[in-house]
Amino acid sequence: MPFRIGIIGAGWYGCHLAASFASLGFEVKVFDRHDGLMREASGNNQFRLHLGFHYARHHGTRLQSRDGFQRFLARYPTLSAEVADNIYAVPRQTSLLDFSTYKLVMAASGIDFVEMPKAHPALANIEGCLQTRERVILLHRARAMFEEALSGSLALGQDITALTQQDRHASIDGERFDYVVDATWGQFRPLPIDVYFEPTLLLYYEAQGPQPAITLVDGPLASVYPTEDPAVFTLSSVPHTPLGRCATAAQAHALRAGVDRALVARKRAAMEAQIRHNIPAFSDMFRFLGAQLAIKTKPVGQYDDRSCYVFRDRRVFTVMSGKIDTIFFATEQILSMIEGDHVAPLAGAETSRLRDSIILPE
Ligand SMILES: Cc1cc2nc3c(=O)[nH]c(=O)nc-3n(C[C@H](O)[C@H](O)[C@H](O)COP(=O)(O)OP(=O)(O)OC[C@H]3O[C@@H](n4cnc5c(N)ncnc54)[C@H](O)[C@@H]3O)c2cc1C
Repeated sequence: MPFRIGIIGAGWYGCHLAASFASLGFEVKVFDRHDGLMREASGNNQFRLHLGFHYARHHGTRLQSRDGFQRFLARYPTLSAEVADNIYAVPRQTSLLDFSTYKLVMAASGIDFVEMPKAHPALANIEGCLQTRERVILLHRARAMFEEALSGSLALGQDITALTQQDRHASIDGERFDYVVDATWGQFRPLPIDVYFEPTLLLYYEAQGPQPAITLVDGPLASVYPTEDPAVFTLSSVPHTPLGRCATAAQAHALRAGVDRALVARKRAAMEAQIRHNIPAFSDMFRFLGAQLAIKTKPVGQYDDRSCYVFRDRRVFTVMSGKIDTIFFATEQILSMIEGDHVAPLAGAETSRLRDSIILPE
């Protein structure tokens, strides 16, 4: 049965959900307050197609990443690229886990890696290194692909203010749909779990010659990772990338709007000092270009949970995004619940047929 589905949010989640529903014959309409696709977190992140190496402390996140990685490659084969030299390094003393424990956790999760016989020459104070096949997501190709796939279904430049529910419908700013998905990463409707909003700052650098991707794990550490332009890298730091912890999305937007050059300079000094502890020649290897701002929604808790959750309130689904690789989980959850609404219940006579096949031998 072809349903009409309205989606609020044109980030990775809204776009992927819309394309998936459209391919099943559903009519979709995607609303976003921006004039283009993926203008918030989906267009301003580290663009890593995760395999699970970041999440030594959360089993569910590792499994969702490991599976999501394969599915992303199958579904969107042209939207990511290989990162040639991709290293996860466990530093001495500052990591929350020792190298052997880290390695065991990854191996037990079925995630492929190669242990490097010795640390990369650019690294210092390292206990051990793994080499991985993680990839980078190609943002501009993704935007172009979804613009084409969803043309005719996009309602951009619309800041949605009202979502109401009727008997078997829900309405977005007065327009009726059979189902609605809130794909705003918790910014439009409150999520039914405890979350906070974290404005973030990543730094961009130009690599001076070919450089490896280096991620220091596990805990409050830093990483440098290429973008879709192999010469341009992002520097991210667990303690310094966050700009604050906000109870509401509005507070996070206000904090982000207040970022000025002086703050970027302070953050840059802190992030570079941190990464030089393990990459001493960082400033010779990378030239500073500028900053990138976004807002993250995070569950309250210390486990580093970045799994995806889907919640349902009658005709409205709300998605708590994990990472980009978890888009498939959201689609499946929503489709299975819609399907469940339309499976006819079995008549009483049919359910009792089992009894006919029960025998009691002489
Ligand atoms: C610094 C940083 C680094 C990250 N690094 C990675 C990484 O390397 N790999 C990875 O997989 N993930 C990473 N992530 C996480 C990833 O960015 C998110 O999981 C993903 O982008 C979430 O997508 P989304 O579609 O749910 O949200 P968003 O991309 O935020 O999209 C939500 C959309 O909703 C719209 N919206 C909100 N309210 C309204 C309204 N009232 N009316 C209309 N539109 C509205 C917004 O404009 C926005 O376009 C990172 C995130 C950050 C912030």
